[in-house]
Amino acid sequence: MAGVERLETVFESGGNVMRVLLVLLLIGFAGCGGNASPPGEGEGPPTPRDTPANIDEPTVEAAEADLKQKAVPKSGPASEVATSKSPSSQSEPDSGSQPDSNRDPSTAASEKPTQTGVETSFRGLADSTPPELAWKATTIEEHNAWHTAFQTKMIEVLGRMPDRVPLKVKWIEKKQFETFTRHKIYIQTERTYWCPVYFLVPHELKERAPAIVCLHGHDGVVPYLGEGRKSGEPRPVLARDFARFFAEHGYVTAVPIVRGWNETAGYQDPQGGSVKRSCQHVTMNSVLLGMSPAGLRCWDAMRVIDFLETQDMVDSKRIGLAGLSGGGTLSLYLPILDQRVKLVMLAGIFSSYRNSFFAMNHCICNCLPGVMQYGEMSDVVSLHAPRPVLLINGMRDESAPIADARQGLEQLKRVYTLLGVPERIEADFFDGPHEWSNGKTLEFLAKHFGK
Ligand SMILES: [Zn+2]
Repeated sequence: MAGVERLETVFESGGNVMRVLLVLLLIGFAGCGGNASPPGEGEGPPTPRDTPANIDEPTVEAAEADLKQKAVPKSGPASEVATSKSPSSQSEPDSGSQPDSNRDPSTAASEKPTQTGVETSFRGLADSTPPELAWKATTIEEHNAWHTAFQTKMIEVLGRMPDRVPLKVKWIEKKQFETFTRHKIYIQTERTYWCPVYFLVPHELKERAPAIVCLHGHDGVVPYLGEGRKSGEPRPVLARDFARFFAEHGYVTAVPIVRGWNETAGYQDPQGGSVKRSCQHVTMNSVLLGMSPAGLRCWDAMRVIDFLETQDMVDSKRIGLAGLSGGGTLSLYLPILDQRVKLVMLAGIFSSYRNSFFAMNHCICNCLPGVMQYGEMSDVVSLHAPRPVLLINGMRDESAPIADARQGLEQLKRVYTLLGVPERIEADFFDGPHEWSNGKTLEFLAKHFGK
């Protein structure tokens, strides 16, 4: 290379004379025949006999020019052109007798392609990208190896977490209900953020009680508190205030306001309606910081569990998780990040990425970057095993197609059976819409938390 560089220097120093010489040389090559190829394509660099005979130049300079020509195909633009064209030029017949639509669109009218929509493109891309870490274990050893690999990948996908700060709590409000007390507290989950939490404690607890972290969805925290419900009135099975419902049945519950909702909202989402929400802002900023909205929101819930562990009335070995809709999305991931979650109730979400988030116009906060590259939703919930899981799905919930939920449940049954605990995976697929159901929750809690 040093020799070539030296010759290039000499060549450049030749000024206009050498440039004229080069032009004449190129004219000479073109005159050798209609099929002349640019340097680097076809037959290789020109031979000395291609040099026009009527150019009388010093032998050394002619040799330098020749070397210059030989150097270009190795690293110059002509080489790139040759490389980019090489696949078609090697495989396609000579275009002299056939129309070449890539080069000459005027020779034949083409039919307009039909695959111009992004949905078509994404379906094709997903078809060609099967999850790398889908569960297919046939032995405990294979399952354990898969669990380690997929959990590691999911923790990576969920993104960077904030720095942990010492747990600090501010008790702001206390409100008495007939069977429980509801506190409004703020928990410092990171250096510059305090998460608002409703903390419901049943009256007259005689022993440490199980606690349930309850995560709300895309209508904000208010419907989940059931504040307007009158005591003694008949409660429908399908009701969103499950935090209150569990407190009425002797469970301590904690309802964090999910980051970006209600009083924590920043820039209002364009489609947010009357409820304050900033999912778009949360998603953009967390992704820009190498985090994810789900990971960051799970972080807050993990700090809520830190708080629950400090409370005398809570049995920290029996901490469960309940989430509906957007809260269900977080309930997919929190048990992966936090093994202190001993039981999961997952509503209005379990189906498949492919036919839910990927196939419809969901909120952007449900997008966990790259997750479909590694696993499907049934694989994610398989990471909850062997902990008990109750899947709650309305069969008319269009955002979580029931056919995919049933298919995913079959995989989970195989996972739990392999682990010897088939009774720990259950489903309440009820005849209804996108909603929480208490059709099986108390029975499920009693079965696994002994209460
Ligand atoms: Zn959202």
